[in-house]
Amino acid sequence: MKSKPIMLKLGGSVITVKDKFLTPNTEAINRLAEEVADSEVSHLVIVHGGGSYGHPIAARYKITEGFKGKHQLIGFSETHNAMMSLNKLIVEALIGKGLPALSISPSSSIITRHGRIHDIPLDILTHAVSMGFIPVSYGDPVLDHEKGFAILSGDQLISILAVKLGAEKVIVGVDVDGLYTSDPKTNPSAQLIEHATLGDLRELVGEVSGSKTVDVTGGMMGKIFELTLPVMNGIEVLIVNALKPDNIRRALSGENVRGTRIIKG
Ligand code: ADP
Repeated sequence: MKSKPIMLKLGGSVITVKDKFLTPNTEAINRLAEEVADSEVSHLVIVHGGGSYGHPIAARYKITEGFKGKHQLIGFSETHNAMMSLNKLIVEALIGKGLPALSISPSSSIITRHGRIHDIPLDILTHAVSMGFIPVSYGDPVLDHEKGFAILSGDQLISILAVKLGAEKVIVGVDVDGLYTSDPKTNPSAQLIEHATLGDLRELVGEVSGSKTVDVTGGMMGKIFELTLPVMNGIEVLIVNALKPDNIRRALSGENVRGTRIIKG
């Protein structure tokens, strides 16, 4: 691909109301579509999370545990269907701003092994990006060679795509200002980490022993674990608050944004 694409992750906690089943954050979705349009980025890939669309159904049917019985099949279908509904809202908002968004469904083309992607067909994506389309993919339940099925997180997907597509950078939009010394939602004295290196990241996910100065849990832990891959491959990662107006436009345009910048070091 001639021009390196920018990868944009829109967190489920940003585009949905997380504690209200199947409820989109319409205001955020429309604003983010506008910010993407205003940034005038030429090569872009978007991946979004599930929030109150994907997670509750997947949890009810224990999809992450893999296939245990036929009663789960309907849960797999319902989870994927909910994700398609959310994806449609994002794609429609982008099209509404005149952007050529193109929905890409992971479960139609990816089979994992123990929940991990080993092979990912890139032809359609590279072709679409180089033509100027904006592929919009998402975290999705997928079939799995060992477990029957698994949940492919948007964070794993965007990290692998970033490497395979030779991305310029990965911008991760969440509902907090970035990576903190502990969860800022539960610890008011948590400090924002503005810069981190691959070494710092590895320490966070427990690959390096030593005294732990940072407490990362929940969704942020999964993100840090996955984002190690693009950083390792020399791709800069920027974690920013996508609920704060103009942050995503600024990040896409290469302007300074309060957040966490992670580089190889
Ligand atoms: P999304 O749904 O947007 O992908 P998640 O909700 O899965 O994001 O993960 C982000 C959440 O992780 C934050 O809202 C925050 O509550 C939590 N979190 C836990 N530990 C940390 C930390 N050290 N720094 C920042 N956020 C953290």
